[in-house]
Amino acid sequence: MKDGRQLNIRDLDQVSKDHPVAVHHRGGHTSFYNPKAFEMADVNRQTPNPPGGTFDRDSTGALNGRVTDNAKSVFYRVGNRQSQTIENSGLDAAPTALDREVAGLTHISKMFARYGVTSVHHEGGNLPAMQKVRANDDLKHRISYEASGKELDAMIAAGIQSGFGDEWMRFGATSEHVVDGSFSERTMALSVAYPGTNYKGNVATTQGDLNAWIEKVHRAGIQINCHANGDVAIDMYLTAFERAQKLFPRSDARPKITHCTLINDDLVRRIKALEAVPSLFTTYAYYNSDKFSFYGEDLMKRCMAFRTLLDAGIHVAAGSDFSPGPFDPRMAIQGMVTRTGWDGKTWGSNQKISLDEAIRVNTLNGAYNSHEEDIKGSITAGKLADYVVMAEDLYSIPVDKIKDVKVIRTVVGGKTVYEG
Ligand SMILES: [Zn+2]
Repeated sequence: MKDGRQLNIRDLDQVSKDHPVAVHHRGGHTSFYNPKAFEMADVNRQTPNPPGGTFDRDSTGALNGRVTDNAKSVFYRVGNRQSQTIENSGLDAAPTALDREVAGLTHISKMFARYGVTSVHHEGGNLPAMQKVRANDDLKHRISYEASGKELDAMIAAGIQSGFGDEWMRFGATSEHVVDGSFSERTMALSVAYPGTNYKGNVATTQGDLNAWIEKVHRAGIQINCHANGDVAIDMYLTAFERAQKLFPRSDARPKITHCTLINDDLVRRIKALEAVPSLFTTYAYYNSDKFSFYGEDLMKRCMAFRTLLDAGIHVAAGSDFSPGPFDPRMAIQGMVTRTGWDGKTWGSNQKISLDEAIRVNTLNGAYNSHEEDIKGSITAGKLADYVVMAEDLYSIPVDKIKDVKVIRTVVGGKTVYEG
């Protein structure tokens, strides 16, 4: 809000008293609702918080409108939503729904090329639309497809494992299986309370459920990927994976830890021992610096810990988390090298890395994350010719200008897919 306070239920009551109103944070873990929406969802000041989520309240105990993580699900079950897009609707999709998916992917592929992105790990998405865009010759980036839900069930049933596909579209790790809340929205699961509160964040699952899911997917020969931000969630994930590896050992499994935001020495040791591949927020250091005061400098020294993880010999990769975070690799690299945000504030400067390292995290380590380091990630004879030409030498300009350097050419498979 302009005056720096948080949006609340009274603001949204003014928008409508007759219609439910929701405002979603771009991070995807928190939303704000008006009284009509709470009424329809049958939530009032007496309603207890469900496991892994909260109906936030003001100092008098009244609902303040903010709802976090698992508590949001009650709103999905009430009211009608007009939608032309049937998610993951496959071949049965109405023509308009598939057309919209094709148009959307065609557009975003063009954007990726414009920003110099040549490979993307896609969190789900419509497979028929992806194939159609490719058939139309409009696919400008390579896809590592991360399945969940019925696509993942189908992979397991059909015996499709990570790596199946070709150099343009292949099944990668699973999509993020959610273990805790969000970093930018301040709901990730911490072992200590958020500074100035007694709140420790949201754990979205139980250890038992997580163990069972990981065992099932690991057994099927599919690379695991969990969303784990806080130290509590990372511990739960590693515990579940250590158990699965003991039951069904597989070498080079590379369990992917999406976000892996707050680490400690013990977690780093276990990540290394499992040869896990963390994929950390990259653009956040620049883009979300105004949120870091909620954690404070002590915790920020262990957040997005590129320096610590690289020093431990861990193949840490870049994770834009688009659309919650911007995907521009130039902004990412600048933030990783400077740890300074748009507001000029620097947090956790002990985790700065060199430009060489930042480029490696955004290229070779990303390829390693999806078992593709033999064909991409560096300009090497025998690898796919995927590369970007920049207007200036990143090594000879001030580090706070990296995000503004123009991409003048993006090449995928030896073919120019963008020229600026
Ligand atoms: Zn996530």
